[in-house]
Amino acid sequence: MNADDMKHMGPGTRAVHAGQAPDPSTGAVMTPIYQTSTYAQASPGDHKGFEYGRVSNPTRTALEGNLAGLEGATHGICFASGVAATDAIARCLRPGDHILASNDLYGGTYRLFRQVFGPFGITSDFVDMSTVAGVEAALKPETKLLWIETPTNPLVRVVDMKALVDLAHSRGIAVAVDNTFATPILQRPIEFGADLVVHSTTKYLGGHSDVIGGAVLTNSDEWADKLRFLVKSAGAVPGPMDCFLTLRGTKTLDVRMERHCSNAQAIAEYLEADARVGQVYYPGLASFEGHELAARQMDGFGGMVSFLLADDSIDAAYRVLSSTKVFTLAESLGGVESLMNHPATMTHASIPAEERRAAGLHDALIRLSVGIETQEDLIRDLEAALSKA
Ligand SMILES: *Cc1c(COP(=O)(O)O)cnc(C)c1O
Repeated sequence: MNADDMKHMGPGTRAVHAGQAPDPSTGAVMTPIYQTSTYAQASPGDHKGFEYGRVSNPTRTALEGNLAGLEGATHGICFASGVAATDAIARCLRPGDHILASNDLYGGTYRLFRQVFGPFGITSDFVDMSTVAGVEAALKPETKLLWIETPTNPLVRVVDMKALVDLAHSRGIAVAVDNTFATPILQRPIEFGADLVVHSTTKYLGGHSDVIGGAVLTNSDEWADKLRFLVKSAGAVPGPMDCFLTLRGTKTLDVRMERHCSNAQAIAEYLEADARVGQVYYPGLASFEGHELAARQMDGFGGMVSFLLADDSIDAAYRVLSSTKVFTLAESLGGVESLMNHPATMTHASIPAEERRAAGLHDALIRLSVGIETQEDLIRDLEAALSKA
């Protein structure tokens, strides 16, 4: 199937077939791991589209086509990690330029913008993106990039992509959406006008907690050229084995997301009804502030749930965090297995405590990446942990 056929296919079909064709040399149905650094040429410049492994590799090309098909993009560019993908976009800015990002976001993105790009004269601010007025007030004449995460991490706030894209484009500002939490199964930012979609494929796309990777998807030829130039010149490329593993993951993305969503919904409802639990953060709860917006711009509410205990002391949170058996206490998210995380000391420790608190991230917040295990086992595990709180 070519890219045009793919446009009419549903997400499950795209996940399996986008960018995939039987291997031309053998007919192998699954894309082989092309473990090679270089490619033979018949005469100088006469090659089959591949010259050197840093620039391109057929396994990587298959993954790029798959991810582009899932996001409805014309270009896919893969990187060695999610932060390498973010880094490549930020490198397209120049000293004096300004990035406006959401204040509830992946901690490593904050660290990259502030500590790596700050010294090169690229400034960044982090604001609550739940209102358009708040974002508008924080824009500067030198703002060149709006960096959106939705749902946000770890408070799963929902950001109005269409409204913010319209605002940014009216001022000539490019918009990047980190779609790691939602995945293209639940939300496709390009449909809302985003210029760039970023993924840590380490999470749901790979889906098995066994590989690190990143990608940028775009419909802009200009952005794609700039990013491919950086891939060639700066070289943060994923290896063929990593691309193969990620591709193996994406084929089941549609079915996995269905289970992640149904398990997370059940857990959020269970937690909300329990007197030992305080606030529950999940876009699928009718009581949640971003619920209606999420229902409009997403095809499901995702697998990430955060909550505070009614006793919101660190001690009580620590007791819960150390007493689950099915949930593993670990950083990261999006794998088949359920994980529990303490953002303040784990994933979000690189954000200064005052800034974390100002953004509404409580020191005792617990974040769950709900896996695809049997629902009753997950709830029983939480029940046992809550009894220790
Ligand atoms: C993990 C993550 C990243 C960074 O990706 P790596 O693959 O770990 O480099 C970026 N954004 C979000 C939302 C993430 O969860």
